[in-house]
Amino acid sequence: DLYNQIIELKGNIRVFCRCRPLNMEEKARGASMVIDFGSAKDGDLIVKGHVSSTKFFKFDSIFSPEEDQETVFRKTAPLATSVLDGYNVCIFAYGQTGTGKTFTMEGTEEARGVNYRTLEEIFRIIRERHGLYHYEVTVSVLEVYNEHIHDLLLSGSQPGGAAKKLEVRQVAEGVHHVPGLVEAHVTNTNEAWEVIQTGSKARVVGSTNANEHSSRSHCIHCVMIRGENLVNGECTRSKLWLIDLAGSERLAKTDAQGERLKEAQNINKSLSALGNVISALATKSQHIPFRSLKATLLHPNLFISSNLYSESLDFNQFRNSKLTHLLQDSLGGDSKTLMFVQISPNEEDVGETLCSLNFASRVR
Ligand code: ADP
Ligand code: MG
Repeated sequence: DLYNQIIELKGNIRVFCRCRPLNMEEKARGASMVIDFGSAKDGDLIVKGHVSSTKFFKFDSIFSPEEDQETVFRKTAPLATSVLDGYNVCIFAYGQTGTGKTFTMEGTEEARGVNYRTLEEIFRIIRERHGLYHYEVTVSVLEVYNEHIHDLLLSGSQPGGAAKKLEVRQVAEGVHHVPGLVEAHVTNTNEAWEVIQTGSKARVVGSTNANEHSSRSHCIHCVMIRGENLVNGECTRSKLWLIDLAGSERLAKTDAQGERLKEAQNINKSLSALGNVISALATKSQHIPFRSLKATLLHPNLFISSNLYSESLDFNQFRNSKLTHLLQDSLGGDSKTLMFVQISPNEEDVGETLCSLNFASRVR
């Protein structure tokens, strides 16, 4: 058991790769698939001979276009238990626009994504633990656009507009908070989902082109959980972050001016800050300081999950973008991070695909 806990600590960062199917239009044009799953060795993904060479990538899980939402969710489900056990959890979807970030996270009504299924799992476990634990759950909906944090549950808040901008404050050692952020109390999956829908609508209302806006901003749901162990009185506070990141594609040369340029620079800034922080943590976690390891093993349910690597990680690194600053107490330490790197199978997208796969390989 002790051994398993150590293994688990070492593996706090996971990267899953998911490839969308070719769409109707691509099929009609006779577009070719450049990603090979079938002939890959266990856990390998192959990008077929582009320009000169074939490239191999390894991830914790690889989902081919045939794999459905339920299969994907089964691999992420243990994180629902983690968050109820007091760990902070971040789940990201990273990738070029049109590769299925929103499909994976939000899904559709017929094919629910990670967000809905994780909420459902959380409330299932809460019911299962009834009498042993008491839980309180709140949901917040935010977006980061052009390096500004907007609260989508705050009435009058407009994405990209001049509405009140929120800031991140450190309220205690290793604990960050956004003063004024609306936290909606929820007691079941439907209530939680309704809150999220309200937030999504606010996002669309404030923008002239909803699709374009959503590909240029980070869409963030935060589920905050307060738990009390009714047997020994021990309390936990933890957060689950569900994040549909802005599109990672590079800006077309023709667009390299004005508002589009500024947006692209801000997206680039936040995505590279995120990559830098996670890859630094991935490296650090191979050298867990003995003291931190022991503390975690003795207290698996820390009262407040906080960053145990505070001495070893440069805190300024988190200040490089609003996104990493917001997530500061949920990245690293005993927190768990899962990143979906979403890719297109289309040969025409191979440049962006390689960029995404390289980014994802770096954070693993
Ligand atoms: P993104 O959010 O990365 O811009 P979307 O999630 O909007 O991409 O996906 C683009 C399109 O591809 C959508 O119509 C979506 O339904 C479809 N799609 C993406 N991934 C899958 C998948 N695994 N299976 C079926 N359709 C998918
Ligand atoms: Mg999207």
